[in-house]
Amino acid sequence: MDIKYPVPCPLMGAEIAEEICFDIHCVVDGGTPERFAPKKARETPNYKQICKNCPYHRDD
Ligand code: SF4
Repeated sequence: MDIKYPVPCPLMGAEIAEEICFDIHCVVDGGTPERFAPKKARETPNYKQICKNCPYHRDD
């Protein structure tokens, strides 16, 4: 998938670099402990579902 970073993240309310998007993915999809995602991203209710539905969410 060809995604040009930074991308506007609905959880962070800002453009984020690939590394931050990756960290959030690891928590949403990868079973990484929640504390490794930025606090601001985790504060949004249903943040995992929002991330899974985001156009920048990667499955590759
Ligand atoms: S895929 Fe997830 S972390 Fe990346 S921009 Fe979308 S909501 Fe944010």
